[in-house]
Amino acid sequence: MIKIIENIPTKRIAVKLRPSAEKMVKKGHPWVFTDSIAKQNIDADVGDLIIIYDNKKNNFLACGFYDPYSPIRIKLIQFKKPAQINEEWFAVTVTKAFEIRKALLITDTNSYRLLFGENDHLPGCIADVYDTVLVIKLYSHIWFPYLNWLVTHLVRVSGCMTVVLRLSRLLEAKGDTYGLSNGQILYGELEDEVVVFKEHGVLFSANVIKGHKTGYFLDHRHNRKRVGELSKDKRVLDVFSYAGGFSVHALYGGAKKVISLDISKQALQMAQENVALNMHIGSHEIIVADAFEGLQNLIDQQQLFDIVVIDPPSFAKRENEISKAKKSYARLAKLGAHLVSRNGILVLASCSSRVTAEDFFNISEENIEAAGRNFDILDKTTHDEDHPIIFPEGAYLKCGYYKLN
Ligand code: SAH
Repeated sequence: MIKIIENIPTKRIAVKLRPSAEKMVKKGHPWVFTDSIAKQNIDADVGDLIIIYDNKKNNFLACGFYDPYSPIRIKLIQFKKPAQINEEWFAVTVTKAFEIRKALLITDTNSYRLLFGENDHLPGCIADVYDTVLVIKLYSHIWFPYLNWLVTHLVRVSGCMTVVLRLSRLLEAKGDTYGLSNGQILYGELEDEVVVFKEHGVLFSANVIKGHKTGYFLDHRHNRKRVGELSKDKRVLDVFSYAGGFSVHALYGGAKKVISLDISKQALQMAQENVALNMHIGSHEIIVADAFEGLQNLIDQQQLFDIVVIDPPSFAKRENEISKAKKSYARLAKLGAHLVSRNGILVLASCSSRVTAEDFFNISEENIEAAGRNFDILDKTTHDEDHPIIFPEGAYLKCGYYKLN
């Protein structure tokens, strides 16, 4: 076993829930909020194993871990069938997660999300693989007592040589991190914090220590491949480009001109480095600008593109931001529609889980029309296959492909 952390003792605690929460758990929902706990036999500490029993029959319903730092007080990992939560449980859970990703790994791809939190029965725990480097990102303290088992089995299934720990800002701000810090190497060595990896034959690099989340966004892989395949001889605008995910695929696919637009100069530098990793003949330009202003400038210059991709960051991180987020999606769809040439394609994405797919697509479509454009819907997609979804809040990504007449 890989030993990172000294043994942290945990207890087992029996809990009963209020009826409405019990109903959700019976459906397999992994979150129990603080005010849903009706009865608890003893006080719990972070990472304690909580066993939830049925109110009427006292049967096992689910079990999970106690998180005193989160309003989601119990994070569930196992439903219906009781199980010993031991090293074997982690071995089986991580192996199952790896099995789901196997089909993707037959493609020319060596970067994938091996653990997608709740959706792989490990709430608040993400593991992304970049070639031989695995980045484990924790959003909850509940994983510290189980980290040795987790890392051992992640290394076993993935064959990775290095494991990097990333901690969310909220996690670092509260509670004990047992001497572990963000960016720490947990296993093996990291020669360079910039790791090169492949996505459907296209090379990218990610800074696994300083990059957003774990360094790169893997969820759009299939959408980027698709944009690449549509790009031969095309002019492509990639808005909110970050490290150039869509831009690089477009150039690799034979685009004659690609513009990456982002507010972050650092992100655009990464985009340029990623472009340089791959063979291409088309030109690549960058625009450092706020997307709303940058798009308006391009419209004022009467520029047109065959493909415009708009993939903004989450606009609704909180409940009270939803209506503002919707307005931003509306503005972006309208601005984008003005920049697409006749028969060109507008690709609109949203990663705000609080804005439903239905609302997002409706807003997008209303605003393409408001820009005076008719359209055909080519496709609507969600996450790539290494992001399985088991509960409604797990689904955040939506992406619409519109052909504008
Ligand atoms: N499309 C990317 C991921 C986008 S992440 C991919 O496929 O990998 C969101 C990006 O939006 C970040 O790079 C961030 O710097 C940028 N961003 C945030 N606010 C912005 C704004 N107002 N204008 C332009 N870019 C912005």
